[in-house]
Amino acid sequence: MSATTFHSTRGMDDALTSKQAIRKGIADDGGLFVTDQLGDTKVDITDLAGKSYQDIALEVLSVLLPDFTAEELGACIAEAYGEQWDDPRITPVKPLGDDWAMELFHGPTCAFKDVALQILPRFMARTAPADGDADEKIMIVTATSGDTGKAALAGFADAPGTGITVFYPEGRVSRVQELQMTTQAGSNVHVCAVKGNFDDAQSTVKQIFGDGELNARLGADDHVALSSANSINVGRLVPQVVYYFSAYAQLLEQGAVKLGDEVDFVVPTGNFGDILAGYYAKMLGLPVRQLVVASDRNNVLFDFLVSGTYNRERPFYETTSPSMDILVSSNLERMLYYMAEKDPRLVTYLMNDLNQWGAYEVPPELLAKIRQLFATGWADEDQVSQMIGDCWRDHKYVIDPHTACGYFVMTQMPAEPGVPRVLLSTASPYKFPRVVNGALGLKADGTDFECMDELSEATGTAVPPMLRSLESAPVRFRDCVEVSDMGHYVEQCAGEI
Ligand SMILES: *Cc1c(COP(=O)(O)O)cnc(C)c1O
Repeated sequence: MSATTFHSTRGMDDALTSKQAIRKGIADDGGLFVTDQLGDTKVDITDLAGKSYQDIALEVLSVLLPDFTAEELGACIAEAYGEQWDDPRITPVKPLGDDWAMELFHGPTCAFKDVALQILPRFMARTAPADGDADEKIMIVTATSGDTGKAALAGFADAPGTGITVFYPEGRVSRVQELQMTTQAGSNVHVCAVKGNFDDAQSTVKQIFGDGELNARLGADDHVALSSANSINVGRLVPQVVYYFSAYAQLLEQGAVKLGDEVDFVVPTGNFGDILAGYYAKMLGLPVRQLVVASDRNNVLFDFLVSGTYNRERPFYETTSPSMDILVSSNLERMLYYMAEKDPRLVTYLMNDLNQWGAYEVPPELLAKIRQLFATGWADEDQVSQMIGDCWRDHKYVIDPHTACGYFVMTQMPAEPGVPRVLLSTASPYKFPRVVNGALGLKADGTDFECMDELSEATGTAVPPMLRSLESAPVRFRDCVEVSDMGHYVEQCAGEI
Protein backbone atom coordinates (compact mmCIF):
# COMPACT_ATOMS: atom_id res chain seq x y z
CA MET A 1 0.00 0.00 0.00
CA SER A 2 1.16 3.54 -0.54
CA ALA A 3 2.90 5.04 2.45
CA THR A 4 1.38 8.45 3.12
CA THR A 5 -2.15 7.49 4.01
CA PHE A 6 -2.51 8.43 7.68
CA HIS A 7 -4.95 11.22 8.45
CA SER A 8 -7.18 12.36 11.28
CA THR A 9 -10.44 10.63 12.18
CA ARG A 10 -11.90 14.15 11.85
CA GLY A 11 -10.62 15.14 8.41
CA MET A 12 -8.89 14.02 5.22
CA ASP A 13 -6.30 16.81 4.91
CA ASP A 14 -3.25 15.12 6.42
CA ALA A 15 -1.19 12.66 4.38
CA LEU A 16 1.33 11.16 6.78
CA THR A 17 3.45 8.05 6.79
CA SER A 18 3.06 5.77 9.79
CA LYS A 19 6.43 7.04 11.04
CA GLN A 20 5.19 10.62 10.93
CA ALA A 21 1.93 9.62 12.62
CA ILE A 22 3.83 7.83 15.39
CA ARG A 23 6.14 10.80 15.95
CA LYS A 24 3.27 13.27 16.03
CA GLY A 25 0.97 11.19 18.25
CA ILE A 26 -2.31 13.09 17.79
CA ALA A 27 -3.67 15.11 14.85
CA ASP A 28 -3.82 18.91 15.00
CA ASP A 29 -7.61 18.88 15.02
CA GLY A 30 -7.65 16.61 18.09
CA GLY A 31 -8.55 13.52 16.06
CA LEU A 32 -6.66 10.23 16.02
CA PHE A 33 -4.57 8.97 13.12
CA VAL A 34 -6.15 6.30 10.91
CA THR A 35 -5.52 4.94 7.43
CA ASP A 36 -8.28 4.08 4.96
CA GLN A 37 -6.18 1.21 3.65
CA LEU A 38 -6.57 -0.78 6.85
CA GLY A 39 -7.76 -4.22 5.79
CA ASP A 40 -6.80 -3.93 2.11
CA THR A 41 -3.86 -6.25 2.77
CA LYS A 42 -4.69 -9.29 4.89
CA VAL A 43 -2.39 -11.32 7.12
CA ASP A 44 -2.12 -14.90 5.90
CA ILE A 45 -3.32 -17.15 8.73
CA THR A 46 -2.78 -20.49 6.98
CA ASP A 47 0.73 -20.95 8.38
CA LEU A 48 0.29 -19.25 11.77
CA ALA A 49 0.57 -22.41 13.87
CA GLY A 50 4.09 -23.04 15.09
CA LYS A 51 5.29 -19.51 14.36
CA SER A 52 7.11 -17.58 17.06
CA TYR A 53 5.61 -14.41 18.49
CA GLN A 54 8.38 -12.47 16.82
CA ASP A 55 7.65 -13.94 13.39
CA ILE A 56 3.94 -13.21 13.75
CA ALA A 57 4.81 -9.66 14.85
CA LEU A 58 6.89 -9.12 11.72
CA GLU A 59 4.05 -10.21 9.46
CA VAL A 60 1.39 -8.16 11.20
CA LEU A 61 3.47 -5.01 11.67
CA SER A 62 4.68 -5.07 8.05
CA VAL A 63 1.07 -4.71 6.98
CA LEU A 64 0.20 -2.02 9.52
CA LEU A 65 3.38 0.07 9.25
CA PRO A 66 4.26 -0.15 5.56
CA ASP A 67 6.93 2.57 5.52
CA PHE A 68 9.16 0.74 8.01
CA THR A 69 11.59 -1.62 6.27
CA ALA A 70 11.60 -5.30 7.22
CA GLU A 71 15.07 -4.76 8.71
CA GLU A 72 13.81 -1.90 10.89
CA LEU A 73 10.81 -3.86 12.09
CA GLY A 74 12.93 -6.94 12.70
CA ALA A 75 15.30 -4.94 14.87
CA CYS A 76 12.47 -3.24 16.80
CA ILE A 77 10.83 -6.62 17.43
CA ALA A 78 14.04 -8.32 18.54
CA GLU A 79 14.78 -5.52 21.01
CA ALA A 80 11.21 -5.28 22.33
CA TYR A 81 10.34 -8.97 22.73
CA GLY A 82 13.52 -10.45 24.14
CA GLU A 83 14.87 -11.50 27.50
CA GLN A 84 12.88 -8.88 29.41
CA TRP A 85 9.84 -11.20 29.04
CA ASP A 86 9.58 -14.12 31.41
CA ASP A 87 7.72 -16.38 28.95
CA PRO A 88 9.02 -17.30 25.50
CA ARG A 89 5.49 -17.13 24.04
CA ILE A 90 5.37 -13.48 25.19
CA THR A 91 1.53 -13.66 25.55
CA PRO A 92 0.85 -17.28 26.53
CA VAL A 93 -2.68 -18.69 26.21
CA LYS A 94 -3.72 -21.00 29.06
CA PRO A 95 -6.82 -23.15 29.60
CA LEU A 96 -9.41 -21.71 31.97
CA GLY A 97 -12.14 -24.32 32.36
CA ASP A 98 -13.87 -24.55 28.99
CA ASP A 99 -12.44 -21.17 28.06
CA TRP A 100 -8.97 -19.68 27.68
CA ALA A 101 -6.95 -16.90 29.26
CA MET A 102 -4.32 -15.02 27.33
CA GLU A 103 -1.79 -13.62 29.80
CA LEU A 104 -0.56 -10.23 28.67
CA PHE A 105 1.49 -9.48 31.78
CA HIS A 106 4.79 -11.27 31.28
CA GLY A 107 6.73 -8.11 30.41
CA PRO A 108 8.99 -6.02 32.62
CA THR A 109 6.21 -4.13 34.46
CA CYS A 110 3.67 -6.98 34.77
CA ALA A 111 0.84 -5.26 32.85
CA PHE A 112 -0.39 -5.65 29.31
CA LYS A 113 0.82 -2.18 28.33
CA ASP A 114 4.35 -3.56 28.12
CA VAL A 115 3.42 -5.27 24.85
CA ALA A 116 3.10 -1.88 23.18
CA LEU A 117 5.42 0.23 25.28
CA GLN A 118 8.44 -1.99 24.89
CA ILE A 119 8.33 -1.42 21.14
CA LEU A 120 7.04 2.17 20.84
CA PRO A 121 10.40 3.78 21.78
CA ARG A 122 12.09 1.56 19.21
CA PHE A 123 9.66 2.79 16.56
CA MET A 124 10.24 6.39 17.68
CA ALA A 125 14.00 6.00 17.39
CA ARG A 126 13.53 5.14 13.71
CA THR A 127 11.44 8.21 12.87
CA ALA A 128 12.95 11.54 11.86
CA PRO A 129 12.03 15.14 12.71
CA ALA A 130 9.32 16.40 10.33
CA ASP A 131 11.05 19.52 9.08
CA GLY A 132 14.15 21.50 9.81
CA ASP A 133 15.40 20.95 13.33
CA ALA A 134 17.74 17.96 13.11
CA ASP A 135 18.50 18.30 16.85
CA GLU A 136 14.87 17.82 17.73
CA LYS A 137 14.25 15.52 20.67
CA ILE A 138 10.94 13.93 21.51
CA MET A 139 9.45 14.35 24.93
CA ILE A 140 6.72 11.91 25.81
CA VAL A 141 4.04 13.36 28.06
CA THR A 142 1.59 10.90 29.51
CA ALA A 143 -1.21 10.84 32.03
CA THR A 144 -1.67 7.47 33.65
CA SER A 145 -4.33 5.80 35.73
CA GLY A 146 -1.67 3.38 36.92
CA ASP A 147 -0.20 0.95 34.45
CA THR A 148 0.64 3.06 31.40
CA GLY A 149 2.98 5.29 33.36
CA LYS A 150 5.31 2.58 34.53
CA ALA A 151 5.26 0.72 31.24
CA ALA A 152 6.06 3.94 29.35
CA LEU A 153 8.85 4.82 31.79
CA ALA A 154 10.37 1.36 31.41
CA GLY A 155 10.20 1.63 27.63
CA PHE A 156 11.58 5.16 27.27
CA ALA A 157 14.14 5.29 30.10
CA ASP A 158 17.45 6.30 28.52
CA ALA A 159 16.08 5.76 24.98
CA PRO A 160 18.24 7.95 22.71
CA GLY A 161 16.72 11.25 21.55
CA THR A 162 13.80 11.09 23.98
CA GLY A 163 12.61 12.22 27.39
CA ILE A 164 9.49 11.27 29.28
CA THR A 165 7.23 12.98 31.81
CA VAL A 166 4.49 10.99 33.53
CA PHE A 167 1.60 12.43 35.54
CA TYR A 168 -0.56 10.28 37.81
CA PRO A 169 -3.54 11.19 40.03
CA GLU A 170 -2.31 11.61 43.60
CA GLY A 171 -3.51 8.88 45.95
CA ARG A 172 -5.48 7.13 43.21
CA VAL A 173 -3.06 4.48 42.05
CA SER A 174 -2.09 1.45 44.11
CA ARG A 175 0.97 1.64 46.36
CA VAL A 176 2.78 -0.84 44.13
CA GLN A 177 1.91 1.16 41.02
CA GLU A 178 3.12 4.37 42.62
CA LEU A 179 6.41 2.83 43.73
CA GLN A 180 6.89 1.31 40.30
CA MET A 181 6.87 4.84 38.90
CA THR A 182 8.59 6.88 41.57
CA THR A 183 11.55 4.50 41.73
CA GLN A 184 12.13 4.54 37.96
CA ALA A 185 15.78 4.83 36.94
CA GLY A 186 16.96 6.79 33.90
CA SER A 187 18.41 10.24 33.21
CA ASN A 188 15.57 11.34 30.90
CA VAL A 189 12.55 10.57 33.09
CA HIS A 190 10.24 12.66 35.31
CA VAL A 191 7.33 11.47 37.42
CA CYS A 192 4.83 13.80 39.07
CA ALA A 193 1.60 13.37 41.03
CA VAL A 194 -1.38 15.60 40.18
CA LYS A 195 -4.08 16.88 42.53
CA GLY A 196 -7.04 15.54 40.56
CA ASN A 197 -8.39 12.37 39.00
CA PHE A 198 -7.18 10.58 35.87
CA ASP A 199 -9.61 12.32 33.54
CA ASP A 200 -8.44 15.75 34.82
CA ALA A 201 -4.85 14.74 34.14
CA GLN A 202 -5.59 13.23 30.75
CA SER A 203 -7.61 16.19 29.49
CA THR A 204 -4.89 18.58 30.64
CA VAL A 205 -2.25 16.57 28.79
CA LYS A 206 -4.44 16.85 25.68
CA GLN A 207 -4.59 20.62 26.21
CA ILE A 208 -0.82 20.77 26.54
CA PHE A 209 -0.45 18.99 23.19
CA GLY A 210 -2.87 21.48 21.64
CA ASP A 211 -1.21 24.57 23.17
CA GLY A 212 0.45 26.21 20.13
CA GLU A 213 2.40 28.80 22.10
CA LEU A 214 3.79 26.32 24.58
CA ASN A 215 4.84 23.95 21.80
CA ALA A 216 6.50 26.76 19.83
CA ARG A 217 8.49 27.79 22.92
CA LEU A 218 9.61 24.21 23.57
CA GLY A 219 10.79 23.89 19.97
CA ALA A 220 12.66 27.19 19.93
CA ASP A 221 14.19 27.07 23.43
CA ASP A 222 14.80 23.38 24.00
CA HIS A 223 14.57 21.64 20.57
CA VAL A 224 11.82 19.55 22.07
CA ALA A 225 8.69 18.26 20.34
CA LEU A 226 5.99 16.71 22.49
CA SER A 227 4.48 13.36 21.70
CA SER A 228 2.12 10.93 23.34
CA ALA A 229 2.58 7.40 24.61
CA ASN A 230 -1.12 7.06 25.44
CA SER A 231 -2.97 4.49 23.45
CA ILE A 232 -4.09 7.13 20.97
CA ASN A 233 -0.64 6.77 19.37
CA VAL A 234 -0.63 4.52 16.29
CA GLY A 235 2.60 3.02 17.58
CA ARG A 236 0.85 1.99 20.80
CA LEU A 237 -2.11 0.48 19.08
CA VAL A 238 -0.64 -1.68 16.33
CA PRO A 239 1.68 -3.85 18.47
CA GLN A 240 -1.45 -5.02 20.30
CA VAL A 241 -2.89 -6.42 17.09
CA VAL A 242 -0.11 -9.00 17.11
CA TYR A 243 -1.25 -10.91 20.19
CA TYR A 244 -4.69 -11.56 18.76
CA PHE A 245 -2.96 -13.45 15.95
CA SER A 246 -0.66 -15.11 18.47
CA ALA A 247 -3.71 -16.25 20.45
CA TYR A 248 -5.15 -17.82 17.34
CA ALA A 249 -1.85 -19.52 16.55
CA GLN A 250 -1.77 -20.99 20.04
CA LEU A 251 -5.38 -22.18 19.82
CA LEU A 252 -4.51 -23.89 16.52
CA GLU A 253 -1.49 -25.53 18.12
CA GLN A 254 -3.56 -26.75 21.05
CA GLY A 255 -6.25 -28.13 18.76
CA ALA A 256 -8.90 -25.77 20.13
CA VAL A 257 -9.73 -24.43 16.66
CA LYS A 258 -9.34 -25.56 13.07
CA LEU A 259 -8.09 -23.06 10.54
CA GLY A 260 -10.86 -20.56 9.81
CA ASP A 261 -12.94 -21.33 12.92
CA GLU A 262 -14.20 -18.26 14.72
CA VAL A 263 -13.10 -17.09 18.17
CA ASP A 264 -14.56 -14.66 20.73
CA PHE A 265 -12.36 -12.33 22.76
CA VAL A 266 -13.41 -10.87 26.12
CA VAL A 267 -11.50 -7.70 26.90
CA PRO A 268 -11.31 -5.72 30.18
CA THR A 269 -11.68 -2.25 28.71
CA GLY A 270 -10.81 1.32 29.64
CA ASN A 271 -9.51 3.56 26.89
CA PHE A 272 -10.66 1.06 24.22
CA GLY A 273 -7.14 0.47 22.88
CA ASP A 274 -6.84 -3.21 23.67
CA ILE A 275 -10.19 -4.17 22.18
CA LEU A 276 -9.73 -1.87 19.18
CA ALA A 277 -6.61 -3.88 18.33
CA GLY A 278 -8.89 -6.93 18.20
CA TYR A 279 -11.08 -5.10 15.71
CA TYR A 280 -8.00 -4.28 13.61
CA ALA A 281 -7.05 -7.98 13.75
CA LYS A 282 -10.47 -8.86 12.40
CA MET A 283 -10.05 -6.37 9.57
CA LEU A 284 -6.70 -7.99 8.78
CA GLY A 285 -8.47 -11.31 8.31
CA LEU A 286 -8.47 -12.97 11.74
CA PRO A 287 -11.69 -15.00 12.24
CA VAL A 288 -13.12 -13.04 15.16
CA ARG A 289 -16.81 -13.63 15.85
CA GLN A 290 -17.40 -11.30 18.74
CA LEU A 291 -15.44 -8.78 20.78
CA VAL A 292 -16.78 -8.38 24.29
CA VAL A 293 -16.26 -5.03 26.03
CA ALA A 294 -16.01 -5.65 29.77
CA SER A 295 -16.18 -2.56 32.00
CA ASP A 296 -15.98 -1.93 35.72
CA ARG A 297 -18.46 0.28 37.58
CA ASN A 298 -17.52 3.14 35.25
CA ASN A 299 -19.77 1.59 32.67
CA VAL A 300 -20.02 4.41 30.15
CA LEU A 301 -19.18 2.03 27.28
CA PHE A 302 -21.81 -0.45 28.41
CA ASP A 303 -24.46 2.28 28.37
CA PHE A 304 -23.25 3.45 24.96
CA LEU A 305 -23.36 0.02 23.39
CA VAL A 306 -26.82 -0.61 24.81
CA SER A 307 -28.42 2.78 24.09
CA GLY A 308 -26.36 4.46 21.35
CA THR A 309 -25.78 7.47 23.60
CA TYR A 310 -22.30 8.14 24.93
CA ASN A 311 -22.66 10.32 28.00
CA ARG A 312 -19.62 11.24 30.04
CA GLU A 313 -21.64 13.48 32.37
CA ARG A 314 -21.88 10.97 35.18
CA PRO A 315 -20.22 10.21 38.49
CA PHE A 316 -16.65 8.97 38.34
CA TYR A 317 -16.01 5.94 40.56
CA GLU A 318 -12.66 4.92 41.92
CA THR A 319 -12.63 1.16 41.84
CA THR A 320 -10.20 -1.67 42.48
CA SER A 321 -9.52 -1.70 38.72
CA PRO A 322 -8.02 1.80 38.31
CA SER A 323 -6.80 1.26 34.75
CA MET A 324 -10.42 0.91 33.67
CA ASP A 325 -11.69 3.93 35.62
CA ILE A 326 -12.27 6.08 32.56
CA LEU A 327 -15.15 8.27 31.42
CA VAL A 328 -13.82 9.19 27.97
CA SER A 329 -12.59 6.17 26.03
CA SER A 330 -10.41 7.90 23.45
CA ASN A 331 -9.92 5.02 21.03
CA LEU A 332 -13.64 4.57 20.56
CA GLU A 333 -13.28 7.40 18.04
CA ARG A 334 -11.29 5.12 15.73
CA MET A 335 -13.89 2.38 15.91
CA LEU A 336 -16.64 4.90 15.11
CA TYR A 337 -14.64 6.14 12.11
CA TYR A 338 -14.29 2.70 10.58
CA MET A 339 -17.78 1.53 11.50
CA ALA A 340 -19.31 4.70 10.04
CA GLU A 341 -17.82 3.82 6.63
CA LYS A 342 -14.85 6.15 7.23
CA ASP A 343 -16.88 9.31 7.53
CA PRO A 344 -14.77 12.06 9.16
CA ARG A 345 -17.71 14.50 9.14
CA LEU A 346 -19.83 12.27 11.31
CA VAL A 347 -16.93 11.72 13.72
CA THR A 348 -16.27 15.47 13.91
CA TYR A 349 -19.92 16.11 14.61
CA LEU A 350 -20.05 13.50 17.38
CA MET A 351 -16.82 14.68 19.01
CA ASN A 352 -18.02 18.29 18.92
CA ASP A 353 -21.14 17.18 20.73
CA LEU A 354 -19.01 15.38 23.28
CA ASN A 355 -16.92 18.50 23.88
CA GLN A 356 -19.84 20.87 23.97
CA TRP A 357 -22.55 18.85 25.70
CA GLY A 358 -20.65 15.98 27.27
CA ALA A 359 -22.61 13.49 25.21
CA TYR A 360 -23.37 12.30 21.71
CA GLU A 361 -25.78 9.90 20.08
CA VAL A 362 -24.98 7.71 17.08
CA PRO A 363 -27.57 6.98 14.36
CA PRO A 364 -29.53 3.75 14.99
CA GLU A 365 -28.16 1.99 11.90
CA LEU A 366 -24.63 2.63 13.08
CA LEU A 367 -25.43 1.33 16.56
CA ALA A 368 -26.96 -1.82 15.10
CA LYS A 369 -23.84 -2.43 13.05
CA ILE A 370 -21.54 -1.90 16.03
CA ARG A 371 -23.61 -4.27 18.15
CA GLN A 372 -23.26 -7.06 15.63
CA LEU A 373 -19.59 -7.26 16.52
CA PHE A 374 -19.27 -5.75 19.99
CA ALA A 375 -21.03 -7.33 22.97
CA THR A 376 -20.75 -5.82 26.42
CA GLY A 377 -21.16 -6.21 30.16
CA TRP A 378 -19.79 -4.78 33.41
CA ALA A 379 -19.01 -5.79 36.97
CA ASP A 380 -19.40 -3.85 40.21
CA GLU A 381 -16.90 -4.03 43.08
CA ASP A 382 -18.63 -6.88 44.88
CA GLN A 383 -18.80 -8.92 41.72
CA VAL A 384 -15.11 -8.32 41.01
CA SER A 385 -14.20 -9.58 44.45
CA GLN A 386 -16.54 -12.54 44.12
CA MET A 387 -15.03 -13.47 40.74
CA ILE A 388 -11.46 -13.46 42.01
CA GLY A 389 -12.61 -15.94 44.65
CA ASP A 390 -14.72 -18.03 42.23
CA CYS A 391 -11.97 -18.25 39.64
CA TRP A 392 -9.50 -19.49 42.24
CA ARG A 393 -12.02 -21.96 43.67
CA ASP A 394 -13.12 -23.32 40.28
CA HIS A 395 -9.89 -23.25 38.29
CA LYS A 396 -7.05 -22.72 40.78
CA TYR A 397 -6.19 -19.67 38.73
CA VAL A 398 -5.51 -16.27 40.33
CA ILE A 399 -6.75 -13.20 38.47
CA ASP A 400 -6.33 -9.48 39.10
CA PRO A 401 -9.31 -7.09 39.53
CA HIS A 402 -9.23 -5.91 35.88
CA THR A 403 -9.24 -9.42 34.53
CA ALA A 404 -12.00 -10.22 37.03
CA CYS A 405 -14.33 -7.73 35.30
CA GLY A 406 -13.83 -9.68 32.09
CA TYR A 407 -14.22 -13.00 33.87
CA PHE A 408 -17.54 -11.88 35.33
CA VAL A 409 -18.88 -10.74 31.96
CA MET A 410 -17.68 -13.96 30.31
CA THR A 411 -19.31 -16.22 32.86
CA GLN A 412 -22.57 -14.26 32.59
CA MET A 413 -22.77 -14.77 28.83
CA PRO A 414 -23.87 -18.03 27.22
CA ALA A 415 -21.00 -19.46 25.17
CA GLU A 416 -21.68 -19.98 21.46
CA PRO A 417 -21.25 -23.73 20.78
CA GLY A 418 -17.99 -24.42 18.97
CA VAL A 419 -16.61 -20.90 19.44
CA PRO A 420 -13.72 -20.75 21.91
CA ARG A 421 -13.60 -17.73 24.19
CA VAL A 422 -10.35 -16.04 25.09
CA LEU A 423 -10.29 -13.79 28.14
CA LEU A 424 -7.52 -11.21 27.96
CA SER A 425 -5.75 -11.19 31.30
CA THR A 426 -4.34 -7.70 31.55
CA ALA A 427 -2.34 -7.54 34.78
CA SER A 428 -0.52 -9.77 37.21
CA PRO A 429 -2.55 -10.31 40.40
CA TYR A 430 0.61 -9.30 42.27
CA LYS A 431 0.12 -5.70 41.18
CA PHE A 432 -3.02 -5.60 43.35
CA PRO A 433 -2.14 -8.00 46.16
CA ARG A 434 -4.31 -6.38 48.84
CA VAL A 435 -7.49 -6.55 46.78
CA VAL A 436 -6.76 -10.08 45.63
CA ASN A 437 -6.00 -11.26 49.17
CA GLY A 438 -9.21 -9.67 50.42
CA ALA A 439 -11.17 -11.53 47.76
CA LEU A 440 -9.47 -14.83 48.57
CA GLY A 441 -10.01 -14.46 52.29
CA LEU A 442 -6.28 -14.10 52.96
CA LYS A 443 -4.55 -11.63 55.25
CA ALA A 444 -4.85 -8.18 53.68
CA ASP A 445 -3.80 -5.73 56.37
CA GLY A 446 0.03 -5.55 56.30
CA THR A 447 2.08 -3.77 53.65
CA ASP A 448 1.55 -4.55 49.96
CA PHE A 449 4.73 -6.63 50.15
CA GLU A 450 3.46 -8.71 53.04
CA CYS A 451 0.29 -9.23 51.02
CA MET A 452 2.38 -10.46 48.09
CA ASP A 453 4.20 -12.99 50.25
CA GLU A 454 0.94 -14.17 51.76
CA LEU A 455 -0.65 -14.55 48.32
CA SER A 456 2.35 -16.47 47.06
CA GLU A 457 2.32 -18.85 49.97
CA ALA A 458 -1.42 -19.47 49.87
CA THR A 459 -1.65 -20.07 46.11
CA GLY A 460 1.74 -21.60 45.33
CA THR A 461 2.42 -18.94 42.69
CA ALA A 462 5.59 -16.87 42.48
CA VAL A 463 5.83 -13.13 43.17
CA PRO A 464 7.36 -11.44 40.10
CA PRO A 465 10.84 -10.39 41.24
CA MET A 466 10.43 -6.94 39.71
CA LEU A 467 7.49 -6.22 42.04
CA ARG A 468 8.96 -7.81 45.16
CA SER A 469 12.17 -5.78 44.86
CA LEU A 470 10.28 -2.46 44.94
CA GLU A 471 10.20 -2.64 48.72
CA SER A 472 13.84 -1.67 48.93
CA ALA A 473 14.13 0.48 45.78
CA PRO A 474 14.98 4.16 46.42
CA VAL A 475 12.18 6.67 45.64
CA ARG A 476 13.47 9.30 43.18
CA PHE A 477 10.39 11.45 42.60
CA ARG A 478 8.11 13.19 45.11
CA ASP A 479 6.74 16.10 43.05
CA CYS A 480 3.04 16.90 43.20
CA VAL A 481 1.36 19.73 41.27
CA GLU A 482 -2.06 21.29 40.74
CA VAL A 483 -3.74 20.42 37.44
CA SER A 484 -3.23 24.03 36.36
CA ASP A 485 0.55 23.74 36.81
CA MET A 486 1.07 20.69 34.60
CA GLY A 487 2.04 22.77 31.54
CA HIS A 488 4.64 24.63 33.53
CA TYR A 489 6.03 21.38 34.87
CA VAL A 490 6.36 20.02 31.33
CA GLU A 491 8.35 23.11 30.32
CA GLN A 492 10.72 22.62 33.23
CA CYS A 493 11.31 19.00 32.31
CA ALA A 494 11.87 19.88 28.66
CA GLY A 495 14.66 22.21 29.73
CA GLU A 496 16.45 19.30 31.34
CA ILE A 497 16.61 16.77 28.51
C1 LIG B 1 -4.88 -0.22 30.46
C2 LIG B 1 -5.47 -1.41 31.12
C3 LIG B 1 -6.74 -1.87 30.76
C4 LIG B 1 -7.61 -1.16 29.75
O1 LIG B 1 -7.08 -1.21 28.43
P1 LIG B 1 -7.55 -0.15 27.35
O2 LIG B 1 -6.68 -0.41 26.17
O3 LIG B 1 -7.31 1.19 27.95
O4 LIG B 1 -8.98 -0.41 27.08
C5 LIG B 1 -7.22 -3.00 31.40
N1 LIG B 1 -6.49 -3.63 32.34
C6 LIG B 1 -5.27 -3.21 32.71
C7 LIG B 1 -4.54 -3.94 33.77
C8 LIG B 1 -4.70 -2.09 32.10
O5 LIG B 1 -3.49 -1.69 32.47
